[in-house]
Amino acid sequence: EAKGDGGAKYHIYHEEMYKKVALRVMMESEVRQALAKNQFSLSLQPQLEAKTKKLYGFEALLRWQHPERGMVSPEDFIPLLENSQYMVELGYWVIRRCFELCQTFIDKGLTDVRIAINLSAGQFADPHLTDYLIDLLAEFSLEANHFELELTEQTLVKNIDSAIEMMNGLRDIGFSFAIDDFGTGYSSLAYLKKMPVDVIKIDKSFVFGMLENRADYQIIMSTIAMVKKLGLLVIAEGVETSAQLRSLTENDCDIIQGYYFSKPIPETKLMEFIDTKIVNGYWKVSVL
Ligand code: C2E
Ligand code: MG
Ligand code: MG
Ligand code: MG
Repeated sequence: EAKGDGGAKYHIYHEEMYKKVALRVMMESEVRQALAKNQFSLSLQPQLEAKTKKLYGFEALLRWQHPERGMVSPEDFIPLLENSQYMVELGYWVIRRCFELCQTFIDKGLTDVRIAINLSAGQFADPHLTDYLIDLLAEFSLEANHFELELTEQTLVKNIDSAIEMMNGLRDIGFSFAIDDFGTGYSSLAYLKKMPVDVIKIDKSFVFGMLENRADYQIIMSTIAMVKKLGLLVIAEGVETSAQLRSLTENDCDIIQGYYFSKPIPETKLMEFIDTKIVNGYWKVSVL
């Protein structure tokens, strides 16, 4: 009996593996075509200073408009492409697009805007990343302080010594670094101590229930206090309600990102969004 069970399990395991590999291979070839066919775009989600409602910046979020499958969520294809050369290629496409958008923002009068760019592990491990960024700065004549590079704890764990070296080099040029999804990975505290970062982004999973769940609330508030004592900036993502906003603001959270202010805005709607929602660099308060 035991043998039979093992065999069945082995079989299922094998099938799962096969499906995963097949899906990844399919994804890779689709991504290659999608890049050529311009099926990717970015949506940008505003980040606002909690106390003043000054625009801090926008996070760039990848969107894939697939001809048959519709809008494919990055959470459904980015993990599959991890460790693939196509993710690196796609990542470079994202970075270049962010530089173009930054130029557009500046032309629009948002002269101190920041764009947050998510970097995948493979992309961050790519030896050409630093040169690519330096070349883009020259090509666009833009200052590096317009760009914040987001890494996760999972990305950092892969090769901590070379990560630190690379981050120091890029920070010397003016790029800043954020740890994304903070609190969901491993060794958060060790990373806080070791990594040359500027910003901590508290993961939205803690924010969603922060006013109902005592543990989430305490984790958020002590994270904010700790991050600020270390002299770093703290962003809360996933802020959906005015009550969450109020509580985070009262407890000294620096920056707010979430549906309460805005969902990510497709590139095509971006200028209209800025015209209607941002005035002189501040979030427009609706006067009733
Ligand atoms: P992330 O970097 O943590 O981005 C924040 C995610 O939270 C985004 O999901 C955003 O739409 C969502 N979000 C923000 N505020 C709220 C809110 O108030 N409520 C809810 N329910 N969700 C909110 P999205 O756009 O689906 O992206 C998912 C993940 O995909 C990102 O998480 C990031 O890890 C990855 N990703 C997106 N774009 C890129 C990219 O260009 N490169 C890489 N490497 N990863 C990317
Ligand atoms: Mg992010
Ligand atoms: Mg995040
Ligand atoms: Mg995330």
